[in-house]
Amino acid sequence: MRLAFIEKLFTNREIGTNVQTTYLRFKGMSYENERYLCDINYVQLWKALARFRCGNTQLEAVLGEWKGVPYVERLCQGYDLGKVEDEEHLLLICPNTQKVRERFCSTLPLTHMSTLVELMQTTNMVTLAKFVACCQYQRTICPP
Ligand SMILES: [Zn+2]
Repeated sequence: MRLAFIEKLFTNREIGTNVQTTYLRFKGMSYENERYLCDINYVQLWKALARFRCGNTQLEAVLGEWKGVPYVERLCQGYDLGKVEDEEHLLLICPNTQKVRERFCSTLPLTHMSTLVELMQTTNMVTLAKFVACCQYQRTICPP
């Protein structure tokens, strides 16, 4: 039963919500415990990364889903980039988090060629959790 559900989730993307598709991008096809669950001992960082990976954010891509806004109209409100404010935008593209990226670029894969999946698969989970928390905090104190 559990295996059948997982197989259905991985093969039928139409049943997925934004949360599921976001999670699947990070998770890939493996079904095992995530390393960050053991690697991160500080509960606030653990929660920040877990929430982010599960799509529990205040990003326009997530809020728009609740409001019924078409995906392409869930734009970053702070900059006239015409880009959807999703997880990749917040961590890798948004000018609002540029200074945070600069602070972490020596310890995380944050080049202009990096992808969100590469970032989430880093072995440096504690630093990744700090980076995610800082980006979300930056968005909070300097909202779009
Ligand atoms: Zn932005």
